[in-house]
Amino acid sequence: MTTVRFAPSPTGFLHLGSARTALVNWLFARKQGGKMLLRVEDTDKIRSKEEYLEEILEDLKWLGLDWDGELTYQSKRFAVYRQKAEQLLAGGKAYREGDAIIYKVENGRTIEIDDMIHGSIAFSTDEIKDQVMLKSDGSPAYNFCCVVDDAELGITHIIRGDDHISNTPKQVLFYEALGCNPPVFGHMPLMMGADGAKLSKRHGGVSVEEYRKEGFMPEAVVNYLMLLGWSPGDDREILSLSEAVKLFDIKDMSDVQSRFDIQKFTWINAEYIKATDTEQLARLIRSYCSENGMDISSMKEDEFLELVDLYKVRIKTLAEFYPLTESFFTDDFRVDEKGRKKYLDKEGNRENLKVFADRIEEMDDFGHEKIEQVCRDIAEERSLKAAQIIHPTRMAISGQTRGAGLFEMMEVLGKEKVLERMRKAAE
Ligand code: GLU
Repeated sequence: MTTVRFAPSPTGFLHLGSARTALVNWLFARKQGGKMLLRVEDTDKIRSKEEYLEEILEDLKWLGLDWDGELTYQSKRFAVYRQKAEQLLAGGKAYREGDAIIYKVENGRTIEIDDMIHGSIAFSTDEIKDQVMLKSDGSPAYNFCCVVDDAELGITHIIRGDDHISNTPKQVLFYEALGCNPPVFGHMPLMMGADGAKLSKRHGGVSVEEYRKEGFMPEAVVNYLMLLGWSPGDDREILSLSEAVKLFDIKDMSDVQSRFDIQKFTWINAEYIKATDTEQLARLIRSYCSENGMDISSMKEDEFLELVDLYKVRIKTLAEFYPLTESFFTDDFRVDEKGRKKYLDKEGNRENLKVFADRIEEMDDFGHEKIEQVCRDIAEERSLKAAQIIHPTRMAISGQTRGAGLFEMMEVLGKEKVLERMRKAAE
């Protein structure tokens, strides 16, 4: 049975690049009806932290990437690695150096792998020095324990980043030494920053966690990651995990590096936000706001739904919702000073506001179409452009120069609040 593994080191948060590795392994396994195992590479007891592991598992679940069976912890298998190393020592394939056990690499050979993404890659053993299996502190070296575990877990395909290519011939030597067949390898070109350098903090967030906190949707994160070096074969850029499983073929993955493109990532997120059912989105926004200290409790549920409906086409992340809609929740909203000067410091505009407010006072039906009609009538009667009424009004009720359609905003805000703010601004 096709069996792959995702093998994070719990020494930090789940990096976007690692999330992509997990995703591609997952797609590969699910496509073939195989298994994806999870192995915790926690041999570095000082840098490995339980919190990181918990966070990584949380992030995987959040992304919708499940795994099969129990976790394997390398930290619990030191005795196995020692036994395997001593077996090679006894077989004359290794030697001791102090407390360390070192594998003797035979020169003059060529190790060839048939990589699923890169095709054939050849390495000369002349370039490979003798390989540590057990370090003098008793902990295993990565290349060795990786092979011991992959062999024991029956891993059939290893899919990981290009940064591991140089490890692969060393691992192939260990498979041979242990008398096992190596699995099939597939090395994915790395995702670089927009400038071609290694993806780092200065390119924006690098961990899944950071994007989650910025209000990205998990579906958008996996959608973006799957399109790095792969496409479903048409121009489609929005596709779910379950659609991708059907279409995915690792052979179609590009063998050149991709660049992280925050604009595209954000665009995809906005597409998911727009496509989310309003009630569901409202729940997500509510929990986002409450986790981030944005107080939206003052609004009734049905009004909140209207507001979400109004703004779902305008936000690219969940984080953008509250700053755009603050004036619906508090009278103490931020005011764009430049906009205020431009639209409210004009005598004529304040007069227009006053006239509009007087007419609103008389309205019974405060639906957006009716409000718009009143606004247009005033413009007509007074030979104004509607903009001369609309801009100051928007400024007065929201403190901003942009937002959803003004009349819809007024309807959601309600007649009383609208009047209060218009009157105040007109003075
Ligand atoms: N722990 C390694 C990493 O995070 C895994 C390497 C591998 O997949 O073999 O890069």
